[in-house]
Amino acid sequence: MARNSFTVRYNQTEEMNDMPAHTHLPAVLPAAIAVADAGALALRVHTEPQHAYRTPFARDSARILHARAFRRLAGKTQVFTRLPSDQVSDHIRSRLTHTLEVAQISRTVAQALGLNAALAEALALTHDIGHPPFGHAGEKALDHALKAHGLSFDHNLHALRIVTWFEQRYAGFRGLNLTLGVREGIIKHSRDYSSATHPELAGYFLDQRPPLEAQLIDLTDEIAYLTADLEDGLDSGILNLSQVRDGVELFRRFLSQAQAEYAAAAPRLLANEALRQILNALVTDLLSETSARVARSGAATLEQVRHAPMRLAALSPAMEEARAQAKHFLYANFYNAPAMQEAHEHAGEVIAGLFAYFMEDPGRLPADHQFHIATEGPARIVTDYLAGMTDSYVEQCWAHSRAG
Ligand code: MG
Repeated sequence: MARNSFTVRYNQTEEMNDMPAHTHLPAVLPAAIAVADAGALALRVHTEPQHAYRTPFARDSARILHARAFRRLAGKTQVFTRLPSDQVSDHIRSRLTHTLEVAQISRTVAQALGLNAALAEALALTHDIGHPPFGHAGEKALDHALKAHGLSFDHNLHALRIVTWFEQRYAGFRGLNLTLGVREGIIKHSRDYSSATHPELAGYFLDQRPPLEAQLIDLTDEIAYLTADLEDGLDSGILNLSQVRDGVELFRRFLSQAQAEYAAAAPRLLANEALRQILNALVTDLLSETSARVARSGAATLEQVRHAPMRLAALSPAMEEARAQAKHFLYANFYNAPAMQEAHEHAGEVIAGLFAYFMEDPGRLPADHQFHIATEGPARIVTDYLAGMTDSYVEQCWAHSRAG
C-alpha cells in the first residue's frame, strides 16, 4: 500500500518535470564562483577540528540558530506589533519570522544558482541580528543619541559585535567563532565600508566585492519584506485592497491575473495569490538577471566576482523600478502612515530616555557591560545594552527607570 502511494507520488513528480516550464530555469553559475567549503573563507579565528559530517557554513547556521540574540528576534518589532485598535496581533511578522522568510528565499536562490546555499542561509539568519528593539524607529533613536557623542549606530557592525563578542556559549572562546566568510558577509551584505573610515575592518577585503552569497542577501531581504509588509499592512487594516491595487503596479498586475483565474475567490485569497506571484516574479527575475550579469562580466571564479566593477547580484532594470515603486508606496502609506506615528514617537521617547538614564549613572548597567566602559566609553556600551533588548524588555526597563 505504502509502496503504491509512493509510486503515484513519484509518477506525479515525473509528469511535472516533463511539463513545459512556465519560466526558464536560471543558468547555474560556474562552480568556481561559489564559496568553497574548504579554503580561506571557511577558517575561524580559533582553530577547531572539522566536523565529520557538517560543512563549516552549516555549522555557522546552527551556531546562529542556537544563539540567544537569535531567539530575542522573536520579541523585536519588524515594522509594527500593535494594530490601530491597540491590540497586539499574533500574525504580524517579528524580526524572527522575517529572518526565517529571508533564509528560505536565500537558500532557494543560492541553490538555483549553484552557489553555497549553507553560507547564504547563515548570512540570512544573521542579517537582522544587530537590530535594536522598536524596528527602524528604535534604530533611528539610538543613532540620534549616539550622534551627540560623535558616534553612530550601524546594525551590521553591531551584528559583528554580537557574534564575535557578546554571545557566550563556548568554553574555549568568546563569541560564536564563525567562519571568515560569514563574518565578511555580515558586514558587507548590504553596504560597502572603506578602510579609511573603518580601519578595524581591514581583514574583510574592503577593497573587494563580497561573494555572491552575501550580495544576494540585500535583495532577498527586500523581496521578503516587500511582499510580507504588503500582507501585514492589509491584514492589519492599515492598508486596504483598493489602495494597494491603485498604488502598487506589481500588485495590480498580479491581482488582475488572479481575478481572471479565480473569479469566485474571496478578495483576501486573491490578494494572497497576487502576493505569492509577486514574490515568485521577484525571485525569478533576481535569478535570471544575476546569471545574465555574471555571464556579461565574464566572471568564472570567486576572485573575478570580487574584482568586478560592481555587484553582480541584481534585479533587472524593469523589475528594480517596480520594486522601488512598491517600496515608495510602503513608505508613504504604511511605514510612515499616521497610524504608526504614535508608536514611532513612543520608541523615540523610550530609547532617548533610557540612553540618558544609563549615561547618567553607568553603574545601572549589568556588571559584564560595565567592564568594557574603560576601553570603549559609556555611550557605546549603553548602546550595546539597549540594542540587545526586546520590545517588552525595553518597556520594562523604561517603567523601572521612571519608577525609581
Ligand atoms: Mg531584514
